[in-house]
Amino acid sequence: MAIQRVAIAGSSGSIGTQTIDVVLAEPHNYQVTALAVGSSADLVIEQAQQLRPEVVVVTNEAHRARVAAALPGIQVTGTLTDVVEVADVVINGVVGFAGLSVTLETLRAGRTLGLANKESLIAAGPIVQPLRSTPGAQLVPVDSEHCAIHQCLRSTSFGNQEVARLVLTASGGPFRGRSAESLAEVTVNEALAHPTWKMGPKITIDSSTLMNKGLEVIEAHELFGIAFDNIDVVVHPQSVVHSMVEFTDGSTIAQLSMPDMRLPIGYALGYPHRIATPFGRIDWSSLSRLDFEAPDRDTFACLNLAYAAGRAGGTAPAALSAANEVVVEAFLAGRIMWSQIAQYVDAVMQEFVVTTPTTVEDILEADALGRRLAEEVLSK
Ligand code: MG
Repeated sequence: MAIQRVAIAGSSGSIGTQTIDVVLAEPHNYQVTALAVGSSADLVIEQAQQLRPEVVVVTNEAHRARVAAALPGIQVTGTLTDVVEVADVVINGVVGFAGLSVTLETLRAGRTLGLANKESLIAAGPIVQPLRSTPGAQLVPVDSEHCAIHQCLRSTSFGNQEVARLVLTASGGPFRGRSAESLAEVTVNEALAHPTWKMGPKITIDSSTLMNKGLEVIEAHELFGIAFDNIDVVVHPQSVVHSMVEFTDGSTIAQLSMPDMRLPIGYALGYPHRIATPFGRIDWSSLSRLDFEAPDRDTFACLNLAYAAGRAGGTAPAALSAANEVVVEAFLAGRIMWSQIAQYVDAVMQEFVVTTPTTVEDILEADALGRRLAEEVLSK
């Protein structure tokens, strides 16, 4: 195999730094050729001095000159999509809506996209989908559940014809099993204490509300083309079964591994091969049980909000995702209580009028409107 050139969009974040771990574990197979950050100047300078990429992108102009001065001989730019040209595989670990441009450009250029940026498919599914058929383009999910489903689906040669349903597992987050009343006054730190996964703050809060799982249901629908009625969520606190596919004959294939994002990242880097480095192995002698239970859809109402937005289609998922970002920021800033997250997002979706997007601008508009409505309901 020729050495794979890897671009990391969002290299300062949780996905980005773990991608570097995977690359450094197999330097004979992978080489980082581009790094992109928003404003994490010190970290990207350190990363670039170690990895010597061709391109470093710093989107925040205020930090760019300092990065350029520290990295003579490396091209330093301000355009996120500049990472695509020098790469065979682009890992899109940009947080939030800003990651869309990287997704579009990577597919347009016919490269492999390791997609960790959920918003790309959730908000802009109708725009992203046609680009997946660009010659050479390949979309490999870097999300543990979708990576699991992607693997399970390799057990059929007949595509969706033989798929009965997708079952996404959810750890249940830090508040699993708790009643709505007992959750009324939880603090930001309690919500940030995820029991099994180490992730960034926004996604950790989404995990605590099950919005993350709801967004993943939409993502699964977009990625695999399975109807919402045939996508289920089951709570599985050990986070060892990462998701399952049930086939028409009643057989279920599940993917199991330790909860470590370096596995899905390595899967995307290596696909269709498998990397040689295991990041954790299951110890079957200490793994004594695997539990499964139905999610509590009343206490964790964000799950239903996401299903509703997914079924509504069009611009609804974009508005949901945008409104949720604003509302979660308000929670992290101490402006609202945890239990109000679902209420505020619901209030936005009640007011939002769904349309059919045909351009990126339509998505941007829905995103902006979702944010504006969220600010409005928050300030009431
Ligand atoms: Mg996930």
